[in-house]
Amino acid sequence: MTKGNINVSVENIFPLIKKFLYSDHEIFLRELISNATDATLKLKHLTNIGDAKVEYGNPQIEVKIDKKGKKLHIIDQGLGMTSEEVEKYINQIAFSGAEEFLDKYKDSGKDSGIIGHFGLGFYSAFMVAEKVEIITKSFKDEPAAHWTCDGSPEFTLEPHDKTERGTEIILHIAEDSTEFLEEARINDLLTKYNKFMPIPIKFGTKEVNVALPEDAPEDAKPEKKTVDNIINNPNPAWTKQPADLEDENYKSFYRELYPMQFEEPLFHIHLNVDYPFNLTGILYFPKMTNDLNIQKDKIQLYQNQVFVTDNVEGIVPEFLTMLRGVIDSPDIPLNVSRSYLQADGAVKKISSYITRKVADKLKSLFNENREDFEAKWNDIKIVIEYGMLSEDKFFEKADAFALYPTVDGTHYTYEELFNKIKANQTDKDGKLVILYASNEDAQHSYIEAAKTKGYEVLLLDSPIVSHLMQKLESTKENITFTRVDADHVDNLIKKEDTKISKLTEEQKTELETLLKEVIPAEKFSVQLETMDSESTPFMITQPEFMRRMKEMQQTGGGMFGMGNMPDMYNLVVNTNSELVSDILATKTKKKQERLINQSLDLARLSQGLLKGEELTNFIKRSYEMIK
Ligand code: ADP
Ligand code: MG
Repeated sequence: MTKGNINVSVENIFPLIKKFLYSDHEIFLRELISNATDATLKLKHLTNIGDAKVEYGNPQIEVKIDKKGKKLHIIDQGLGMTSEEVEKYINQIAFSGAEEFLDKYKDSGKDSGIIGHFGLGFYSAFMVAEKVEIITKSFKDEPAAHWTCDGSPEFTLEPHDKTERGTEIILHIAEDSTEFLEEARINDLLTKYNKFMPIPIKFGTKEVNVALPEDAPEDAKPEKKTVDNIINNPNPAWTKQPADLEDENYKSFYRELYPMQFEEPLFHIHLNVDYPFNLTGILYFPKMTNDLNIQKDKIQLYQNQVFVTDNVEGIVPEFLTMLRGVIDSPDIPLNVSRSYLQADGAVKKISSYITRKVADKLKSLFNENREDFEAKWNDIKIVIEYGMLSEDKFFEKADAFALYPTVDGTHYTYEELFNKIKANQTDKDGKLVILYASNEDAQHSYIEAAKTKGYEVLLLDSPIVSHLMQKLESTKENITFTRVDADHVDNLIKKEDTKISKLTEEQKTELETLLKEVIPAEKFSVQLETMDSESTPFMITQPEFMRRMKEMQQTGGGMFGMGNMPDMYNLVVNTNSELVSDILATKTKKKQERLINQSLDLARLSQGLLKGEELTNFIKRSYEMIK
């Protein structure tokens, strides 16, 4: 038997392991199963190339709880180790690996995200065990070895009589870690970290029904049979070739990933590159709501089929964190901090690759089946609009498939919209005016007014659309987005100004004075307009820039630093309307005021601005009038 000290340079590595990785104790299991998987895959490789003259067979990895003995076993049928190899790989290499990892970890602090997810390796066993044994038999013709270590730097190494090839790791679970002797806890961990690992993992057994023969009587009881409980799917969809998968395979993989999710994904994107970096994966577009936050953290990051994290911030562009699915890459450095990750060249390439793939997929979906794409637009627009805002590359590509729906349900691309309206929707400076509504019901009368004139009105209702319009206005030439209720439509889109006023200049002055006496100046700025006599007599509008700044204040975190702007509206009064003539012709001042107040309230009502006591009074007053 050999006794020895693992390394004297850092006596206190074991307490360090416990202390520094406190929150990540559970990863020990993933590390040990990864090692078991590596050992099995290495053997497979050696038998394939003829360097190991043994039968590979159908190896599996077994995880076993011995609750009474307070032990957890991880057993593999991989290539095993000779005692020299244990000396080398466990006492020297694994140790220096752990030491190096802890050094890095100490320096970069505890808040660095992915750090701690990878790298510690075999010695992470000491986060939960007071003593660890390795019993291992190499595929080579040498006796088995038995290594024990109780958490101090001392170890023992002696021969063992194990005859089957492979390695058994025995963890003597420490007093403060007995949770890892609970079947449910281990089951959760296996499901979280090992669900898609490439070698079958057995955890206990389960009962299954044996299929009855065709001619069995109706009341025959199905026979039960006990089989190994395999917790993983060793061949998940993303490791296969897209050509070998049907739509249904992608859908069923989605259900495997999100068993609690009942809605089907809208479509998927299969990622598959091996140069200049390795990356595979499948991303799904789920049905989106307008809530930007609750959707995040659904993409799972794997490294060679081992689960790492479901926080892919910094690896995929922010707007794509709303998607779901899996990314698997051995090229993402995981034991570094997030800020480092974002600056890492490989990670940047990965991020722009994913962005490009998503854009290409959207484009081909649009080209292949536009009708279907339009039908899904409402559910995907938030991701696309967000992407257009945040990634310039995506913005450029999105021109080919970003849609601008009208209130009547036509979906234009930008180019189609442009061609449709360029002839007759310009303002007095020759700028193209893109009219839009954000709420069909609330802005109904304004929409109708614009449609009567033959104008197109878009329906743009996502929460970030004001930012997107800003961006489009600054990249496309000479255009302006204007909400239908920003002004009277004849002011928004200027035809020749040939309307003749019914009122004389004196009458206009008289009207203006009258209005100013009745209408509170701090709320409405009165604007006299010469319009068609049938046009609405009184109409409340809010200038586009004013409303948009307020909106952006809400969604953009007050980036204009203006605090709370007061609500200021325009009251557009049509001087050619009959009502205005009537008001002027009315004899008593009192009656004139009543007419003006009633008209103002009607205008407010149609903008949804009449509320509370004022609304009650208005209704009372209206009943009085029709009595
Ligand atoms: P890493 O897996 O990154 O190499 P570890 O600390 O996890 O680092 O493991 C150190 C080494 O110990 C491995 O590289 C391997 O040579 C050996 N080893 C660990 N577990 C096993 C196992 N189950 N079977 C065979 N060799 C193993
Ligand atoms: Mg390892």
